[in-house]
Amino acid sequence: MSKKVTKPSFSKALFSGLILEDLVFPFPKMDKEEAENMDLIRESFEKFAEDKIDPAAIDEKAEIPSEVIDGLKELGFFGLNTPEAYGGFGLSATAWTKALEMVCHADPSTSLLLGAHQSIGIKALHLFGTEEQKQKYLPRLVTGEMIGAFCLTEPGAGSDAAGIKTKAVRDEAQGCYILNGSKLWITNGNLADFFTVFAKEEIAGPDGDPHDKITAFIVTRDMGGVTSGKPENKMGIKGSATAAVFFEDVKVPFENVIGERGRGFKVAMEVLNSGR
Ligand SMILES: Cc1cc2nc3c(=O)[nH]c(=O)nc-3n(C[C@H](O)[C@H](O)[C@H](O)COP(=O)(O)OP(=O)(O)OC[C@H]3O[C@@H](n4cnc5c(N)ncnc54)[C@H](O)[C@@H]3O)c2cc1C
Repeated sequence: MSKKVTKPSFSKALFSGLILEDLVFPFPKMDKEEAENMDLIRESFEKFAEDKIDPAAIDEKAEIPSEVIDGLKELGFFGLNTPEAYGGFGLSATAWTKALEMVCHADPSTSLLLGAHQSIGIKALHLFGTEEQKQKYLPRLVTGEMIGAFCLTEPGAGSDAAGIKTKAVRDEAQGCYILNGSKLWITNGNLADFFTVFAKEEIAGPDGDPHDKITAFIVTRDMGGVTSGKPENKMGIKGSATAAVFFEDVKVPFENVIGERGRGFKVAMEVLNSGR
């Protein structure tokens, strides 16, 4: 049976010309301590941006200079939205949104680099990862030593995300999945070392027959068999690398499944909802 909707939808009401203010006001506020921290973050970023970030050059060269990426790592900007327990700043959603707004003001492509890394690239690990997975990967992700990407879209599956064709086949003898497929238009696709990948695997249904179900996986570039295409030549946000990512016979350990096997579609939707 479908879940009963208890709250009216703000977006749906807009189509009827209604603005349901009660659902969006009062606007969320940062507490005093976080607001003070944000002032410090803003101060250090604005100085850095003034010295190092040239948005016109980034757009013209269609690339964020490594000097800028390294500077953001030093400022701790790859971990702003990650809990302090894993080495991040632990910003709330409100503060994180303000931080992205601030970076976007300096350069939109740079805000996408950070946003795709934290809001979608490593979000499934945050929301559905085991403690062991978090301990293993987050310390390197918050420092920017590893950059994250979210790999859902494929040449034949965009809005219809359930139509993905990337395949994960369990190899019980080797204790890993063999992953094959291509992903398209992946933000940070050519920079990332850590990929949240959605693929289909055969899982027996209640009828005992095998069915293709989506599972989410942690894939790292050093597993081998991961390559990326040239960044797309876009009309805007040119410095943000949007690239294809290819997986060829990648051996993904069983323990790299994020969340439950066969529940990857829910993982993807939760990540996208949270990211938005
Ligand atoms: C700059 C950029 C960065 C991206 N980064 C990522 C990323 O990091 N990771 C990732 O996985 N993907 C990424 N994507 C892909 C993005 O998520 C897809 O483009 C998106 O899901 C839409 O898919 P599509 O482009 O195949 O369009 P389609 O699904 O082909 O849709 C084309 C048009 O048809 C409409 N449409 C589709 N289905 C219906 C329907 N049933 N009824 C009515 N209208 C419909 C859509 O609204 C749209 O206007 C990125 C895309 C861009 C442009």
